[in-house]
Amino acid sequence: MLNKELFYETIKSFDINVDDSTFARLDKYAEMLIETNKSFNLTAIKEPDDVTVKHFADCLAIFKYIDIPENAKIIDVGTGAGFPGLVLKLFRPDIQMTFLDSTKKKLGFIENVLNECGVQGEILHLRAEEAARLSKYRESFDFATARAVAALPVLSEYCLPFVKVGGTFISMKSADSNEEISEGKKSISILGGAIEENIVFDLVENMPRRIIKIKKISQTPTKYPRPSAQISKKPIK
Ligand code: SAM
Repeated sequence: MLNKELFYETIKSFDINVDDSTFARLDKYAEMLIETNKSFNLTAIKEPDDVTVKHFADCLAIFKYIDIPENAKIIDVGTGAGFPGLVLKLFRPDIQMTFLDSTKKKLGFIENVLNECGVQGEILHLRAEEAARLSKYRESFDFATARAVAALPVLSEYCLPFVKVGGTFISMKSADSNEEISEGKKSISILGGAIEENIVFDLVENMPRRIIKIKKISQTPTKYPRPSAQISKKPIK
């Protein structure tokens, strides 16, 4: 369950309207997360107040900085227990969301939440670098999102191949990621992207976070993404 007061207080600067039924969906998700987490490790963030701020408000901050058009097609890469993808979807059910993760059990949890909330989404149990080589998924999304999955040079190889030219890769990072961003520039450029905006903001006082908006400006060369072992052994740097 969410801390309602803390939730509305934290998102008040986001300029978004979370009505009662939307709050009820998000609250259901939080309740299921906290309950399921007792028997299966979904997240290290367990306390309702932390879940409210560090998971739910953190993910909703995307709407403050990025305009997501109606019916946008989004893939959440390494979604885990559903962050940010499931928060975005429950707030904006018009979004066509694909939840991708290599861990099946976590996807099972997402499926349960979707069913419970009466919302639909595509569940994709594959590694990102495998899915991005399939024509059904390659360069077919308006947005790719990722939070806490890999460092930017590797993460870009996972995510940018999914994004259409003209689309955006949204990378959610901690604020102290300057070095990672410098290291990621070559990879982003080779994969057809360019950093459009690098936004650091305070989620709450003394809790700085970062959203990097990476525009897809040209097609990803067909040799990417490379097989998993090559990506991790020799990240593009
Ligand atoms: N994004 C969620 C969040 O912010 O809470 C989950 C973060 S968790 C630390 C990283 C997740 O990424 C795990 O669920 C893991 O299975 C998934 N993952 C890592 N590498 C992946 C890959 N190459 N393809 C698909 N999933 C991957």
